[in-house]
Amino acid sequence: MAYARWSTSDIYIYLDSNGYFCCCNCSLDNIDFNKFFETKTILFHIDKHIRAGHKVLNKTIMRLKEDEKENDLWIKKMMKAYGGTHGRR
Ligand SMILES: [Zn+2]
Repeated sequence: MAYARWSTSDIYIYLDSNGYFCCCNCSLDNIDFNKFFETKTILFHIDKHIRAGHKVLNKTIMRLKEDEKENDLWIKKMMKAYGGTHGRR
């Protein structure tokens, strides 16, 4: 599920079905699949994009905060299922 898309933002962020948030083709860290394992850390990352002058919709942040509990619980479950190594570089 995408929280930010290229059509309306300078970033592309989605919750990957493998259990992490992905900032795709991240122009900030120059990483194709920049992975985050907590809502707090993806929000912090989005804030860095905003401070760099990148366009991010308020809706993206609002939706992430709305889904925070559910998403973080689910990511934790996925981390357990994969022994805490899933998606890590
Ligand atoms: Zn990024």
